[in-house]
Amino acid sequence: MRGFSTVLVERGDLATGTTGRFHGLLHSGGRYAVKDPQAARECIAENVVLRRIAADCIEDTGGLFVTTPIDDPQYADRFIAGCRDTGVPAEEIPVAEALRREPRLNPRITRAFVVPDATVDAWKTVWTCARSATEHGARILPYHEVIAVTRDGDQVTGIIARGPDGEQVQIRAQVTVSASGAWAGRIAAMADCRVQVLPGKGIMMASSHRLVQSVVNRCEMPADGDILVPIRTVSVIGTTDTPVEDPDHWAITQAEIDQMLEAGENLVPGFTAARMLRVWGGVRPLFQDHAPAETRDVTRAHAVLDHRARDGVGGFLTITGGKFCTFRLMAQDAVDAAAEVLGSTRPCRTADEPLPDSQERRFYQLGSRLAERERTLTDEQLICECELVRRGRLEEEMARRPAPSLDDLRRAVRLGMGPCQGGFCMFRATGILHQVKHLSAAEASRALLAFLEERWKGVYPLLHGDQLRQARLDDWIFQGVLDVEHLPLTAPTRQPESAAGTATGPPT
Ligand SMILES: Cc1cc2nc3c(=O)[nH]c(=O)nc-3n(C[C@H](O)[C@H](O)[C@H](O)COP(=O)(O)OP(=O)(O)OC[C@H]3O[C@@H](n4cnc5c(N)ncnc54)[C@H](O)[C@@H]3O)c2cc1C
Repeated sequence: MRGFSTVLVERGDLATGTTGRFHGLLHSGGRYAVKDPQAARECIAENVVLRRIAADCIEDTGGLFVTTPIDDPQYADRFIAGCRDTGVPAEEIPVAEALRREPRLNPRITRAFVVPDATVDAWKTVWTCARSATEHGARILPYHEVIAVTRDGDQVTGIIARGPDGEQVQIRAQVTVSASGAWAGRIAAMADCRVQVLPGKGIMMASSHRLVQSVVNRCEMPADGDILVPIRTVSVIGTTDTPVEDPDHWAITQAEIDQMLEAGENLVPGFTAARMLRVWGGVRPLFQDHAPAETRDVTRAHAVLDHRARDGVGGFLTITGGKFCTFRLMAQDAVDAAAEVLGSTRPCRTADEPLPDSQERRFYQLGSRLAERERTLTDEQLICECELVRRGRLEEEMARRPAPSLDDLRRAVRLGMGPCQGGFCMFRATGILHQVKHLSAAEASRALLAFLEERWKGVYPLLHGDQLRQARLDDWIFQGVLDVEHLPLTAPTRQPESAAGTATGPPT
């Protein structure tokens, strides 16, 4: 938007890092009002801006902070004072009113406060920003991994990336900005610079339907499992904060899952009996030059690092830390710093110009897909019943991308994200992908198996009750319809005469 010639490279699909693996909460700032006032001020300022420029990506659920039986009753007074000091609007309401709004809430809560929390669809936001950037002339290269940062003496001159087919792409730039979240230290090291980012793992679990209609936070110092977020058709409980060595290698433990279930039970009695769909995790980029013992103690505010001042290396900036809900401000600060390096004074306009699809400033409404479906009930095949994905919308998304995986399509249109976790829609989607992208049978089979394996990772740690029955049914569907365990994954080759009739084992 400032008229620079720009290229974005991302090693996977867009929003496959922490963005796309987070809680989906557009913070009011209440969570940080006591512990991290700077982060609280940033959150509320950006909450207001994003409601103005990205309304289509936001559901205005509102939020509650409630004092549950396990919380320190004194904290509520500190909370309300912190909100006042940081400009976070918070209003106390009677407990009876809170229970009227959220009938499933723990009836033993003692205080309740209303705040302007909301929920935000990360994938939609990221793709809409990408669309806007492209319309302003940016080039976006997903599936391009930075493998080197190039230098000419003490000046960074760009990067070398490895593309989807292994080809190397060199990009020369006057300014290179690393916006690589928990991976910022690795990218900085490629330029012989030093950035210390503490990766903090957090896990989340989605229930099969909404247990609450507004975001429910415990009114307490940030702790594990203290927020329940209603997003789209599900509720998400989270999260934890555990330091990990490597943002690419970490695991979710049974103890963490049990901890989330117990935490959910405290907010909404009966939570442990609710049907849980899947569990996933993400890694916070926590920036701190001098590491504290606990990742929870690191500020959630962001930092722009100019490596000329820090490491004597020019033309290279790192933006890290922060929250999803402060992404626009982070971008503004990073581009301000880049503009300064380039000697440009063009002002930032991202706080004022709405993103595509948000010009009318109408928030996303739960039920909007259903309303659209009602209009096209008899005209168009429904591919995903849980998330109401129409065939036309799916084909459009397939055609728009050069080589989408089924997981990319899942993120783009929420395919297979509901209670059946792909059981009823994925074999259909694979057939359509096969047709639209002219895949070979082996390529289509590989696409399906890759999707099923990826999904399984998040499903199996939680399997019990109805979701276990569902997983068994899904298994029968895939075995029965496609004999999925024996799909040929390579193109058939002609057998030599002598081998004809020899039994070959199934591919593994
Ligand atoms: C469990 C959890 C819950 C959270 N909940 C919330 C919330 O409710 N609300 C909120 O506002 N924030 C929340 N956050 C924080 C928020 O999600 C993150 O701060 C934010 O998404 C980070 O964005 P980022 O762009 O800095 O990093 P990322 O989204 O991780 O982006 C960095 C990208 O760099 C890419 N990359 C890495 N190495 C390379 C390479 N060599 N070449 C090319 N690309 C590379 C990665 O693939 C990645 O996509 C949460 C975080 C966690 C972990």
